[in-house]
Amino acid sequence: MNTITTINPATEESIKTYNRLSKPEVSANIEQAHKSFLTWKNKTYTERAKLMHKLANLFDERNEEYAQLATSEMGKTITQSRKEIEKCAYICRYYADQTAELLADQSVETEAHKSYVTFQPLGVILAVMPWNFPFYQVIRFIAPALMAGNAGVLKHASNVQGCAFALEKIIQDAGFPKGIFINLNISSDIVESVIENKHIVAVTLTGSAPAGQSVASIAGKNLKKTVLELGGSDAYIILEDADLEKATDLATYGRLQNNGQTCIAAKRFIVLEDIYDVFLKLFIEKMTDAKMGEPTNEDTYYGPLARVDLRDELHEQVEKTISQGGKLIIGGKIPNRKGAYYPATILVDLEPGMEAFDEELFGPVASVIKAKDENHAITLANNSKFGLGSGVITSDKLRGEKVALQLEAGSSFVNKLVASDPRLPFGGIKTSGYGRELSGYGIKEFTNTKSIWIN
Ligand code: NAP
Repeated sequence: MNTITTINPATEESIKTYNRLSKPEVSANIEQAHKSFLTWKNKTYTERAKLMHKLANLFDERNEEYAQLATSEMGKTITQSRKEIEKCAYICRYYADQTAELLADQSVETEAHKSYVTFQPLGVILAVMPWNFPFYQVIRFIAPALMAGNAGVLKHASNVQGCAFALEKIIQDAGFPKGIFINLNISSDIVESVIENKHIVAVTLTGSAPAGQSVASIAGKNLKKTVLELGGSDAYIILEDADLEKATDLATYGRLQNNGQTCIAAKRFIVLEDIYDVFLKLFIEKMTDAKMGEPTNEDTYYGPLARVDLRDELHEQVEKTISQGGKLIIGGKIPNRKGAYYPATILVDLEPGMEAFDEELFGPVASVIKAKDENHAITLANNSKFGLGSGVITSDKLRGEKVALQLEAGSSFVNKLVASDPRLPFGGIKTSGYGRELSGYGIKEFTNTKSIWIN
């Protein structure tokens, strides 16, 4: 029997072993999701919203239980896990309340008696999801997908199967029809056969670029739509008029939140040379003061990475950068303790062509880069294959806006860390992916934008 065992990254102890599904079991599950879709697609937005509100309430009731589960499976601090579950409830309420308006028919004036655009559900969508926000990433997909009338099957990251089954259960407990959302506990080599299944109409993947390339090429071969939310190496430009206390507070939180494992985390700090030394001094102090520790402790600032192999890969990237001429200022050593811990690390003297400049470092490692002036900072920020988020820190809002408009990214925030918000579209350009989640743009990705003409 093919199994997967989840492991607590803080203790390296096994949590639970789950049986993987066989191919025939996967096909039977997809068949069930399709059957469920055939009834669900005819429900009204009001009927769907009632269940979505129930789901939101259940997330509130089970906040502590699910927060503990997420922390045990992927090491996020307990305080941040609770916030993640709160956000799940918020997203469910947002789509429960807004879908009727977001997907309302749009009348178009033509020479027809009546013509309009309507948004119809597509069918069963496959979601391939990562471990870093094990509840939220899935809810960000499934809440709008269900409200639009679709069904979903989930291939979650192997190391968070407890969270995956908890999601299946909570959706059932909220009263959604059996089979409308199913967790497929499968390894990634079976994903190809899932995409080929005739009932799977589209795929959304959040994860790394290699996973995105593989899934998109299989989906392309089968002419099935994809939305890809991939990695990033977000640049934050610190202009010389920035409040450096605030800038370094944001930088520290931005780099260490979720133990450094957020796609839209601030990863490259591009600082104008006039303020570079002061910024670096404050940043070193704050990164050093941030407390690494047990994720279950309330006062821990950041915990371990999600898996030991991911920690070791991150360390290799740091060492590679140093061998290429980058300079290590703090951190950079694997601590002598159990667990996938890695200390807050700062690298400087970085240039394009070095690992830390060019690639995503998915952990508590900050790259600080000196820029001659504003234009140079923009050029450095845009010198990246990624284009997910980006930021500008300045005391001049208008100047910040002008810089933000020149940054090549799906989102650019001024004086705030990039965050996903259901009222705004979320996604990337370049190798950070394509398509959008959240807002009206996201919910329409998995609908048939259909023209109706009546004479
Ligand atoms: P990952 O290794 O790409 O895994 C993501 C998911 O894809 C997992 O379910 C994984 O399953 C599956 N997978 C991996 N390779 C696959 C393949 N060849 N075919 C089909 N499925 C495959 O990424 P991760 O390490 O979990 O997450 C970190 C990455 O996700 C980072 O690059 C981060 O920036 C990105 N991310 C992006 C966003 C966004 O919104 N843009 C949000 C969060 C994370 P297994 O676990 O079974 O391997």
